Amino acid sequence: MNTELQERSFAARVKDEICQISADLPTCCYHAMSYGLLLCGRSFSSSSMMLVTEHKGTAELYSKAVGDIIGKEPEIKESESGKFSVSVSRKEDRLKVLSAFGISERTIGVRINRANIADECCYASFVRGAFLACATVTSPQKSYQLEFMFPYLHLADDMLNLLQELNVIPKMSKRRNSYVVYIKRSEVIEDLLMTVGAQNCALEIMQIKIEKDMRNKINRKVNFETANIDRSVAAATEQREAIRRLKEDGRFETLSDELKELAQLREEYPEASLKELGELLSVSLSRSGIYHRLNKIVSIAQSDD
Ligand SMILES: [Zn+2]
Repeated sequence: MNTELQERSFAARVKDEICQISADLPTCCYHAMSYGLLLCGRSFSSSSMMLVTEHKGTAELYSKAVGDIIGKEPEIKESESGKFSVSVSRKEDRLKVLSAFGISERTIGVRINRANIADECCYASFVRGAFLACATVTSPQKSYQLEFMFPYLHLADDMLNLLQELNVIPKMSKRRNSYVVYIKRSEVIEDLLMTVGAQNCALEIMQIKIEKDMRNKINRKVNFETANIDRSVAAATEQREAIRRLKEDGRFETLSDELKELAQLREEYPEASLKELGELLSVSLSRSGIYHRLNKIVSIAQSDD
């Protein structure tokens, strides 16, 4: 993975991709995207309407969406910590925005008004806006988690249902004062990113998964082979030790000719595998035949201690 890609967080790159698409949507989808973006911001009512984000492109899109309705784009403020905020400061402007989405001042509670998601094509765009405003996704290098965070249960519920209609099945949990609609399965995250048009990031998840898989497979194979080698080295050492003792106490000459021949080979080729030893014998023998003969040598050496 090149460093340039890692400098900008994965979530920021997803949002970059979404912003790029969102600037160029058909009117119906742009309306739905704007609605998602405003509705899922920090607040969306006649008394307060604002967005706080770490993603500059999202702040710009929010300002533009508001500007399209009230005729003047609100200012984007940047905090010391690098967060961007945009707010609609005048009440009459907030009412104008609300009414553009069919919401009256007296409407209580924040829900998803489906009238703003006119057509099939608009659903993905609504999710685009919502994602920009209140979602994040972890880097697939670390883990798989995509989550939308809502201040109201009803809004979280509505989002859950809407995503289900798009065949994305999320889960919901409560965290402090927020309701989190989240996805942990990488394939579902890929689907959602594809749906909102963050194709490059979706592909990146797939690619990283393949790399992780390969690495795991290689590690398993290496571990397996190392364990095998350890076992065979330990066995060969034990066999050579047995032969040495048999020679020392003069019992080596009492061994049968076939055992003697094998013992000589074992000493001569301490690192040879059982199969290789079998091929070196004057009358070649299978791996298991060698195994039994070597075991016999070892047990003879151990028998008369
Ligand atoms: Zn549309």
